[in-house]
Amino acid sequence: MLLLRSHHHHLLFHHAARLLVRRAAPVPRAASARLRSLRMSASNSSASSPAAPSPPPAPLVPKSRIPFCPACGSPTKLAVPDGDEKMRAVCSSCGRIHYENPKMVVGCLVEHDNKVLLCRRKIEPAYGLWTLPAGYLEVGESAAEGASRETLEEACADVEILAPYAQLDIPLIGQSYIIFRARMKTPNFSPGSESLECALFALDDIPFDSLAFSSIIVTLRMYIEDVRSGNIKFHYCTINKRLGAGPSDLRSFDIDNHLAV
Ligand SMILES: [Zn+2]
Repeated sequence: MLLLRSHHHHLLFHHAARLLVRRAAPVPRAASARLRSLRMSASNSSASSPAAPSPPPAPLVPKSRIPFCPACGSPTKLAVPDGDEKMRAVCSSCGRIHYENPKMVVGCLVEHDNKVLLCRRKIEPAYGLWTLPAGYLEVGESAAEGASRETLEEACADVEILAPYAQLDIPLIGQSYIIFRARMKTPNFSPGSESLECALFALDDIPFDSLAFSSIIVTLRMYIEDVRSGNIKFHYCTINKRLGAGPSDLRSFDIDNHLAV
C-alpha cells in the first residue's frame, strides 16, 4: 500500500496524457500551426485587447507512458506491433514490447453492529478523506487475502472475509476494484501507519461529502440501499468519468452496466 501514492499519481498522469493525446491526435501539425497563427493575428489586430500570450502548443506526438525499457533501460517508442491493434511502448534497443494492463484494487467493507469501518487517509492522494480499507493486490496473494491484508495494515483489524460484495471497473484509469464484506474476528481496530483515524459509522452518518474515491462512494451507496431493502446482493458495475471532469472531481461520473445478483 505504500506504493499507492506513486501508482495513483502515475495513473493521473496517464489519464492526463491520454486526454491530451485524444485531443491532439486529429489535428495535423500544419493545421494546428495555421490555427495558432490565425489566433495570433486576430488578437494582434484588435487594438482594444491587450496582446495575449499565445498558448503553448499542444504536444502532437503521443508520448509513451513507459518512457524507458524496464528490461534494458533504453528509451521506448510508441508503435503498433505486427498483428496488434494498439499503440504499445516498444524498446528502441532490445525491441521488447511493454504492455500496460489494469491494476486490481482490493478492500473490505467491514460490518460491525450495523456500522461500517472507515479509515481517514494519512497519505496522498485524498489525504484527510475517508475510505474503505483497500489497496493494490500483490503478486502471490488472492484478492481475499489482499483485502484482509489491507484492512490489517490500514485499520489494524483482523477480519474474516464473508462474501464478495462488489466489482467496480474504472476503465479510464485502468483499475478494477473488488470489495469484500467482512467481519472483525475481535472488535479491535486502530489507525495503521497510512490512516489518521479509523471509525465505525452508522449508515446514516457516513461522511459522503468527504469520501476519498468514486469507487468508495458507489460501494457505500449500493450497500446502504441493499441494507435498507433487506437484501444484500453482489454488484458489478463500471464507473466512467464524465467528459471534461477533472481528476479530483469525484462526483462527476456515471455508473454503467450495473448488474446485481
Ligand atoms: Zn529494451
